[in-house]
Amino acid sequence: MSAPEPVCRYRYDLTGIAEHASKVVAQLPERCRMFYAMKANSAHPILHALAPIVSGFEVASGGEIAKARAVDTDVPVLFGGPAKTQPEIEQALAAGVLRFHVESVLELHRISAVAVAAGRVADVLLRVNLAGPFPPATIAMAGGATQFGIDEGRLPEALRAARELPGVRFAGFHLHSLSNNLSPSAHLQMLTLYRDKVTRWERDHGLRSEVVNVGGGIGVNYTPASGVPAQGEPGPQFDWSAFTCELDRLVATFPAHWREIDFECGRFLVAAFGTYETEVLDVKRNHGTQYVVVRGGTHHFRLPASWQHSHPFRVRAVDAWPDGLPRPEARGSAVTVVGELCTPKDVLARDVVVDRVRAGDVLEFVYAGAYGWEISHHDFLSHPHPEHVFR
Ligand SMILES: *Cc1c(COP(=O)(O)O)cnc(C)c1O
Repeated sequence: MSAPEPVCRYRYDLTGIAEHASKVVAQLPERCRMFYAMKANSAHPILHALAPIVSGFEVASGGEIAKARAVDTDVPVLFGGPAKTQPEIEQALAAGVLRFHVESVLELHRISAVAVAAGRVADVLLRVNLAGPFPPATIAMAGGATQFGIDEGRLPEALRAARELPGVRFAGFHLHSLSNNLSPSAHLQMLTLYRDKVTRWERDHGLRSEVVNVGGGIGVNYTPASGVPAQGEPGPQFDWSAFTCELDRLVATFPAHWREIDFECGRFLVAAFGTYETEVLDVKRNHGTQYVVVRGGTHHFRLPASWQHSHPFRVRAVDAWPDGLPRPEARGSAVTVVGELCTPKDVLARDVVVDRVRAGDVLEFVYAGAYGWEISHHDFLSHPHPEHVFR
């Protein structure tokens, strides 16, 4: 009898996603809408679970438009992303996309030309890359030199184009400036800055926005409460109730003609409801470091390598072990968890203190539901893919 394949799977909790998203949406103030940024995880069952709860999907490619339409022929779709091609713009118009988030003056021209040829007018938000300073967050998407959006200094030119081009209609602004922000007060500070910027632009240029899209960037805490890498659950998560309570007050100060305030969150909606489970194949000490080698790695779960963090995990003890083989273990010591790839960069967690981990145990990486499988280089070294279990 051949041995069973070692455990290697993503497990998703669809009920958890639906409950969490429902609570998140229910706490939003009037005028605010929650869209799901599907690049965080575009698996069909997840989109299917979220479609009836959120106001729609934010997509950034023709492939994502197709995924949205495969789930629901009517779900509202917002089309963003820094490099839209003419075929994608044609596809978006044919798919009935609600709005385009425009990233440059040339893109305004491209969208207008395609829309005119199709006998249509496309609603657009101008994505503006703001001049900071910003509240602290892990990845600043704007304020410094990034490729996203229209430089705030070039806004007059973009507004002129948006007004004059026959195939586009200016509907407002899009501002997505940061990622993985854990502080409700910092987020509110940023939204206050957005309010002040947009009202100033409206005054300076004599225009009105109907829609202001404030992006995503609500964070997930991957770090243990103690700050010391140790096995188990990470520290406190973003306090959505506290945030929306204050947001209610802030939105009351927004001009009445802003009929819609869009959020487009990815990570915050799904991260907590995915777990990457992988079996320990070996435990060994090399030059003073205790390594735990798993079946899997960064080709399945690139997030820890991409963010340069130790990803939180639990150890599930598995008592079964074949006769006649030594069973190495680490106890009460710091371990570095590595995968099956032939590169020293294949590290999922570093110097994490565990009670006990043995070959044959299973590590459960928590908060793996967003930017996990989705961002990984699946076929490097041609190992089998993990299972994907949705329930
Ligand atoms: C990635 C992205 C989002 C979602 O970001 P999260 O940090 O996952 O909430 C929203 N809007 C834009 C434009 C993005 O690029």
